[in-house]
Amino acid sequence: MIVIRYQSATGPAFGLVENGVAFALDGDLFDPARPVRRGRKIGPLADVRLLAPVAPGKIVAVGRNYADHAKEHGGEVPPEPLLFLKAPSAVVGPGEAIRLTPLSQHVEHEAELALVIGRTAKHVPVAKAWDYVLGVTCANDVSARDLQKRDGQWARAKSLDTFCPLGPWIVTGLSLDEVLNLPITCRVNGVVKQQATAGDMVFGPATLVAHASAAMTLFPGDIILTGTPAGVSPIRAGDSVEVELGRIGILRNPVLGDE
Ligand code: ZN
Repeated sequence: MIVIRYQSATGPAFGLVENGVAFALDGDLFDPARPVRRGRKIGPLADVRLLAPVAPGKIVAVGRNYADHAKEHGGEVPPEPLLFLKAPSAVVGPGEAIRLTPLSQHVEHEAELALVIGRTAKHVPVAKAWDYVLGVTCANDVSARDLQKRDGQWARAKSLDTFCPLGPWIVTGLSLDEVLNLPITCRVNGVVKQQATAGDMVFGPATLVAHASAAMTLFPGDIILTGTPAGVSPIRAGDSVEVELGRIGILRNPVLGDE
């Protein structure tokens, strides 16, 4: 199922897409007692204003989870997943601008596969972890490298406003194997900068859910960003950045200067 979040007459709402047509979604994505069904027709998907596909309570991200990216930053692959947090206020949707800021002179893209948590997860074993994932979407873990270095930790560098594009939608119902086979690509102005397969991750999605849920309870709608492969590069005002996850979709965001 392709799940969208869109601006309805009464505010943000979830919908679903079938054959290029958007429908409202009846039921509750995060409540098994209220299974989701196709609701009223909204119209052609192309006419729907998409929002970020979820408004996460928290964004758990993982550093150095692809060996080739760890190497390009002169770091080793960590012995266990290296978690950090990104502020939910940084989220923007497909097509929304990544806004540069005078605080940083060195901003880079990071194409990532994002896991959307479907139900409350606490101390989840690896073998059961995939059951807690609603689906996947594309993410760009936009990062201010100069602030990352200067601050010695990553809160500010990773959480600047608009530095977490998500979307364009959530694809649910995939098996873990299907997800591990997804190609991840990042293009800047049409030029391929990052290309990998999700299976290249050092710690896979199930391990990440288990590891994070051992430390902090994950709630429905929370996001896990699974790390970025090699090829990160600077982005500048006027650029267009695309993160593509195989047949999941393409997350496209323009880069604009400070207002
Ligand atoms: Zn990242």
